[in-house]
Amino acid sequence: MAEIDSLAGLSSDELNAHWMPFTGNRQFKADPRLFVSAEGMHYTTADGRSVLDGFSGLWCSNLGHGRREIADAVAQQLTSLDYSPAFQFGHPLSFKLAKRLADMAPGDLNRIFFCGSGSEAADTALKIARAYWRANGRPEKIRLVGRAQGYHGVNFGGISVGGMVGNRKTFGPALDVDHLPHTLLPENRFSRGLPDHGGEAMAERLLDIIELQGAENIAAVMVEPFAGSAGVILPPKGYLKRLRELCDQHDILLIFDEVITGFGRTGSAFAAEEFGVLPDILTTAKGISNGAIPLGAVFAREGIYDTFMQGPEHIPELAHGYTYSAHPVACAAAMATLDIYESEKLFDRVREISPHFEEALHGLKDCPNVIDIRNYGLAGAIQLQPRDGEPGKRAMEVVLEAYKRGVLLRWTGDTIAVAPPFIIETAQIDQIAQTLREILQTVA
Ligand code: PMP
Repeated sequence: MAEIDSLAGLSSDELNAHWMPFTGNRQFKADPRLFVSAEGMHYTTADGRSVLDGFSGLWCSNLGHGRREIADAVAQQLTSLDYSPAFQFGHPLSFKLAKRLADMAPGDLNRIFFCGSGSEAADTALKIARAYWRANGRPEKIRLVGRAQGYHGVNFGGISVGGMVGNRKTFGPALDVDHLPHTLLPENRFSRGLPDHGGEAMAERLLDIIELQGAENIAAVMVEPFAGSAGVILPPKGYLKRLRELCDQHDILLIFDEVITGFGRTGSAFAAEEFGVLPDILTTAKGISNGAIPLGAVFAREGIYDTFMQGPEHIPELAHGYTYSAHPVACAAAMATLDIYESEKLFDRVREISPHFEEALHGLKDCPNVIDIRNYGLAGAIQLQPRDGEPGKRAMEVVLEAYKRGVLLRWTGDTIAVAPPFIIETAQIDQIAQTLREILQTVA
């Protein structure tokens, strides 16, 4: 029998060479957790264990892993057209993908700008918002509004508008941005789906910011329809609709960051459709290509695009883009991903299976230290009482113990988040809940 090697043959020099993202490097390198393969609902670890993916990788592998159709599409694209430049050149597949995405999107969010990630999508959207007002003869409208606990990636625009303080505090001054309060209210604890209380009132906190800064100076408000990275913080009923009304009344663009909520996580293609609120700009990444090849896309309403199309023809209307914008291989991966969502009716499946998911999560209500449980579609969170003086540690211990017991989850602060691929079976949902139950009974 082959020797089982938890380090996958890595030397300590190799381990040290990689500065790992969003990871306590010293802690990881003292006790590495390495995946060497993945198929369907499972990862295989370097020491030969099978781990159930309860988090779709990182909110992205919605179809599960190792999809042959995506691999074939990528391989085919690599040998037919591996790269195509911008600056007055293009390739057909990006237009086909854009049209297909526009057809999926609600309203007239029909103009698609491609980039390489959710962070790039966020900064692209913020730049479009500012440039839009300038093109409209209102250059003073530059201020941006975000929300506490929001996450919009790690580029400078994203960390400024984002409201996760830990992601900003070590980098010096960011943009000067105002933040709405988050929508986690004690009276909504243990809600199922969208909470009942406080929606309109929380949205109206935007009026405080408008009073402070003046609507004539504000370009856009950016929010996630529900905040994913901060631990599935849901908008109370009426919140997003009221935010839309206020933005309309005050000539402020509304941007939805749907990097997590896009492509089926809620049971609809986009949360904008699920919640019946149309933003002016919408950002996506992750599930657009099943996480297999990096890709992001920003959707703009037609009127925004049209505003840009009025200057001289030989100058780029938007001086913005990336070497890998509309990368042909990423477009091919996205096409294959969209084919599978459609042919396997996976957004419907999210809708069908999410009541079971909701029951399973809320069944953990009586476990020790559980102070809130939230869920929507196939996204859920179990919030724990922080241990005195050790914020975030209890949830981290639960997640690392779950990994040992064969279930991959994520912690964020004192919250355990669950977001499985859409192909998950009910028995696997039960396995996640049972694993959590056993661990929560024993973790101090
Ligand atoms: N926005 C949201 C809502 C996200 O959840 C994420 C990633 N978790 C991002 C932006 C950033 O995406 P990326 O990591 O691809 O840059």
